[in-house]
Amino acid sequence: MSDVGAQAASGAAGAAESGVGRLPDPAANGYRDTWCGRVLPDRVDDEVRVAGWVNRRRDHGGLIFIDLRDRTGIVQLVFHPDTSGAAFELAHKLRAEDVLSARGKVVRRDEETINPALPTGEVEVAVAGAELLADSETPPFQIEGYADDVGEDTRLRYRYLDLRRAPMREALVLRHRLTAAMREFLGAEGFVDVETPVLTRSTPEGARDFLVPSRQQQGSFYALPQSPQLFKQLLMVSGFERYFQIARCFRDEATRADRQAEFTQLDVEMSFVEADDVIAINERMLSHVFEAVGGPEIEIPMQRMPYREALDRFGTDRPDLRFGLELVDLGEALRGTEFKVFRSVLESGGSIRGINAGKREVPRKDLDGFISRAQELGAKGLVWAFREGEGWRSPTAKFLSEAELAELNRLLGAEEGDLLLLVADKRPVVNAVLGQMRLDLGERFGLIDESENRLVWIVDFPLFLYDEVEKRFDAMHHPFTAPAGALDPDDPGAALSQAYDVVWNGQEIGGGSIRIHSAEVQQQVFAALGIDAETAKARFGFLLEALRYGAPPHGGIAYGIDRLVQRLAGVETIRDVIAFPKTASGFDLLTGAPAPVDAAQLREVGVAIHKSGKAGH
Ligand code: ASP
Repeated sequence: MSDVGAQAASGAAGAAESGVGRLPDPAANGYRDTWCGRVLPDRVDDEVRVAGWVNRRRDHGGLIFIDLRDRTGIVQLVFHPDTSGAAFELAHKLRAEDVLSARGKVVRRDEETINPALPTGEVEVAVAGAELLADSETPPFQIEGYADDVGEDTRLRYRYLDLRRAPMREALVLRHRLTAAMREFLGAEGFVDVETPVLTRSTPEGARDFLVPSRQQQGSFYALPQSPQLFKQLLMVSGFERYFQIARCFRDEATRADRQAEFTQLDVEMSFVEADDVIAINERMLSHVFEAVGGPEIEIPMQRMPYREALDRFGTDRPDLRFGLELVDLGEALRGTEFKVFRSVLESGGSIRGINAGKREVPRKDLDGFISRAQELGAKGLVWAFREGEGWRSPTAKFLSEAELAELNRLLGAEEGDLLLLVADKRPVVNAVLGQMRLDLGERFGLIDESENRLVWIVDFPLFLYDEVEKRFDAMHHPFTAPAGALDPDDPGAALSQAYDVVWNGQEIGGGSIRIHSAEVQQQVFAALGIDAETAKARFGFLLEALRYGAPPHGGIAYGIDRLVQRLAGVETIRDVIAFPKTASGFDLLTGAPAPVDAAQLREVGVAIHKSGKAGH
């Protein structure tokens, strides 16, 4: 374990030295011989030399105080007109963010000037000499001590200044410690870190490709990898047996909140393994890295839940298991109902499900709010009810028989005063709506214990999902995922896969599968996906060919590092754990990318820009 890894995740324990732990002292030179954050009471009477940025300057009755900041923290410098010599004049001119080197004796502060908020708050450096190393213009925002009053666009525009702030530094150090712990674990287990190309061909992970025009082969394009999927499989054919990479992936997805088009995965692949083997080593990996960075303690083996069960109970394959409010199927109880809305849903093969939200007092306008929320999520409507006696207090009660109400109460485990919410629609709609409303209610009623951590493997996924609009099957994960058992070409919808996702408190943090290692099966899967032999050959011929040269059974997984660090750091957006992120609409406000290029550059790569500026118009 490295020094760095021994610190607590973030917050109080790590904050003093920005999570850097036992950082070795800097080599003494003309600039400094110690860290600002290390000027602690044990150094009283020592001569020290420190260097850093001016965090703040205060003039006090002839004395000048400078808070000097480096990566490890802040130390107070005192400039005295009699003892600081020329440095006193310099101190007059210092402004925030100037870069300074100063030397002097560490002295104890007077009782009344001790600052308990700073680890160095009991001492200060009585400056004997100082040198200005660089001037700073007035920064667009104050580095320390600002909360939410600086807009994110300004922070991103001046990211190099934003990164001077302790929370940003701590998040990036945490990120470093996480990947260091991953490398350490995987290295010890015999995994080899192999880099794979960034200029490559399309990898189908379900998003749009970023394209790079080729200058030497005009009219041809590289695609940036959506993941290293095909290369890691080829490495298994090559006999590497255990591969990993902290890989950059690129997906040109429609702008969605809190996603980056360019993101980082821990990518892993192993040979001669079954799903259980991959899961077992990943459980050990997760507990190792979580321990190293002060993340949650996990019990292994972790819980597993079939995809179907997750959907039935929670409406989603990313269930948050920290609270109940499970979905209950009510179709059976309503099979013979006279209530037209319910009857027509059941007759057309839809489903009716409900949640018992417990004994709650909810004002009428909030109940209406639940209805609009359900509609916003895609349902036609929502039935609300409170159990009252043997029946319901609800606008819908009059449409249902006494026997039906009693049975619904029984199925939902409803007691007097319990709030019940029902949705009737196509099954996927019911799941999506109630799955989300369950989360909303969990939050609203404070049912989620934030200190609890629930990790679960979701298994037994379907191999394909039917796309109602396109009228065809899509791969649930990607087309290289192995089916569980033989594939029935007449009933692809029934096939399960050997895929697994790991979900932490309702968020998918990783996912993978055992892969297809036979060219024949791979071709069957392509066929089921409507990819004909010719297209398959054109796009994935190299993989199909490789599978004919002795491909071992293999499988792997990938984790989204940005999301993982975000969760561990407990911050709101993944942009806060990425050094130089893009905005939600894909702009890099610091460099101004993407940007137009010269006509000459375009000519060189043989690209013409369509007048409207929009492809396909
Ligand atoms: N390549 C997959 C992804 O990026 C992960 C995997 O199957 O290993 O989601």
